[in-house]
This record gives sequence, structure tokens and C-alpha cells, in this order.
Amino acid sequence: MSAEFKVKTNKPILIIGQGLAGTILAHQALSAGFEVEIWDSPSTHFTSSWAAGGIFNPVTGRKLEATWLAEEIFTYLFPFYEGLEKTLGTRFFYPMPLFRPFANAEMKGWLLDRKSQIDHDFLLWTDVGVWVSNSGWVDVATLLSASSKYFTEKKILFRRRFSESELSEISQPFERIICCEGFHGQQNAFWKGFGFLPAKGELLTFKSNQPSEEYILNKNGFVLPLGNQEFKVGATYRWDEYGPNSVPEAQAELKQKLVNFQIDQYEEIEKLVGVRPATQDRRPLVGMHPTINVGIFNGFGSKGVSLMPYFADAFVGEWLGKKMVHSEASIRRFSHLFSV
Ligand SMILES: Cc1cc2nc3c(=O)[nH]c(=O)nc-3n(C[C@H](O)[C@H](O)[C@H](O)COP(=O)(O)OP(=O)(O)OC[C@H]3O[C@@H](n4cnc5c(N)ncnc54)[C@H](O)[C@@H]3O)c2cc1C
Repeated sequence: MSAEFKVKTNKPILIIGQGLAGTILAHQALSAGFEVEIWDSPSTHFTSSWAAGGIFNPVTGRKLEATWLAEEIFTYLFPFYEGLEKTLGTRFFYPMPLFRPFANAEMKGWLLDRKSQIDHDFLLWTDVGVWVSNSGWVDVATLLSASSKYFTEKKILFRRRFSESELSEISQPFERIICCEGFHGQQNAFWKGFGFLPAKGELLTFKSNQPSEEYILNKNGFVLPLGNQEFKVGATYRWDEYGPNSVPEAQAELKQKLVNFQIDQYEEIEKLVGVRPATQDRRPLVGMHPTINVGIFNGFGSKGVSLMPYFADAFVGEWLGKKMVHSEASIRRFSHLFSV
């Protein structure tokens, strides 16, 4: 790294939250040479990342479009997770093809008529659907627990709750404080008006001999193979309550998805519940507050696994004066909220 972009402070960065966002940002900051301290309070603010399906997939929607910045983000993602597996000495990154069957004959005809317009390198067309390359899943629970052990061994992870009222006492010893609070961030007064739109979701893990273990099946939901004949089916969305518990309607919806996937012999293993930290404009919230040394790394919605590594690199690069976070992800788009 050129001397121009080296860390020029010996004060640590304080990261609030050890969900997937705080974890990935902490790894990126450490590898850039920053000292890091992490405060996490899962007993008071539940961690949604443990519920994630963990899927990454560069194709979205009924029209099979490439996702936002897919080329850059998916080029960055593979070496990032492979490198992190080496750092942590644990396997959690599983590239795997994803298959999207055509919903019905009408949809197949509609898509084939537009094939030349929607075609891109991530798609391989067949008679019954499309294969999506550069897909797979991250075992987020394993990544979080291996990281927790790694941070604990480095003595940088603390079970401690952050509150805005203590800012004047704690801001001095830290170079900057970055809030990675997931959907709890909508309660944080620093980020009022940022358009949080959290979406609660549930998944079900189950054991069955019926689905394929070779690929992720994606048709109005997904079936994700975990190995040993275990799978996840998901996911549900609701916006009316954000509690940590499973609700019967969501479980009924997941069982209906299994029926639709023609899976009728299975043994339930576990219900998983979380809240996606989504935003109204469907873009992340990355950047520093304009007047205090507090920043935010949040708003990754249902695409945390693919977006976080790329944007954590960009955010740390911004601290070093090396690059700027993409304008659509940067909180510079809310600068009118801070003007006096
Ligand atoms: C059912 C479901 C399925 C999903 N599937 C996928 C998927 O397939 N692919 C994908 O990419 N994404 C998926 N997601 C989304 C993904 O889980 C999220 O993008 C990601 O987990 C968000 O991580 P986070 O770190 O921002 O939030 P969280 O995981 O909620 O972490 C926030 C952390 O901050 C801590 N915290 C909050 N406030 C404070 C405070 N004041 N003091 C101290 N600590 C605090 C909390 O204790 C918590 O540990 C899914 C989500 C759900 C719910």
C-alpha cells in the first residue's frame, strides 16, 4: 500500500454491533491496519444475521435483471470470502449454482421473447428455466461465531451496549465510531430521516431426501441445500411487527412453499427469525455524519452477504482518502437533513 494511504492514527475505530455488517467492517478495517474495538449487545438488541439464508445471487426479479453493480460486487465477493476463510481457518463460503425454473408457459414465452434484451453473462438458458452463475451461500452463523472467537482472542470484542447519550464521554478515545446496529439503527437519533424500512423474515430448516443437494432452487422462494440432506426454505416478509419470535402465519407460508416445491416428506429442524435492515430507496446507508466522528454502515436489506464486503472496502478506503463510497450508497444523499 502506498504511504499516502496508510493509517495515520493510533486511536482505534469503535464498531457498534457484531452482526454481519459490523463483523465484515471490522475485518476490513483490521486488514487495512486500523485498531478496532467492537461493542455488541445481543441480549438487548437481537441479532438478525443469525437468521440469514446467506444466499448471494447476481440476478433479481421476474425480468432476470443483473443486480445493482453486479459486475463489481460479484468480482470482489469471491476473493474476499475465500481470504476470510483462510484468516479464520473455517469453511463458510459455498459457491453453488442457482436454478430458476420458468414460473409457467406464459412467463417462459414472455422471457424468451425478450431474451436478447435481458441476456447477460450470469444467465444460462435451458428449456425449463435459467441457471444463474456466480451464486451460492455463506454460512453466516459459522462466519459470525468464528469471527467472534477471533475478535475475543484479540481482546477487541466487548458485550456492551452503546447509547447516543454517552457520546461526549466516549468519542474522544476513538478515531471514529461506526454504527452497525442493523434494524435497531432506526431508533438511533443520528440517523433520523434516513428512510429505514425494516422487513421481518422467517426461514425453516428441514431434513428431506427430496430436493437436490447440488443447487439452490429459486421460484417464489428458495430451497437451499446445507449438506447432510438438510435444507433451508424461505423466506417470508412482513412489515407490521418486528419481534424476535416466529409467528404462525409465517410458518404456514413456508410450509405452503414446500408444497409448491413438491416437497412433502420432511422433518422440521429449526425456525429462524430476523429483521432485514432495508431502506425505502433500497440502497445501503454508508458514511460519516458531517459534524461528529460517528458513521453508519447499515441498510443492506436482504443482500448483506453480497453488498457488505464491497462497501466495507469502499468505506475504509474513504477513511484513508483512497476512494469514495458510491453516491447511491453514501449518506451524502441525505446531506439536506444536516444543513442548518
Ligand atoms: C429471514 C431472513 C433471510 C435472509 N436471507 C438473506 C440472504 O439469503 N442473503 C443475504 O445477503 N441476506 C439475507 N438476509 C439479510 C441479512 O440477514 C442482513 O442484511 C444482515 O444480517 C444484516 O446484518 P446487520 O449486521 O446489519 O444487522 P444485525 O444482524 O441485526 O446486527 C446488528 C448488531 O448490532 C447490535 N446492536 C444494535 N444496537 C446496539 C447498541 N445500541 N449497542 C450495542 N450493540 C447493538 C445487535 O446486538 C446486533 O448484534 C436475510 C434476513 C432475514 C431476516
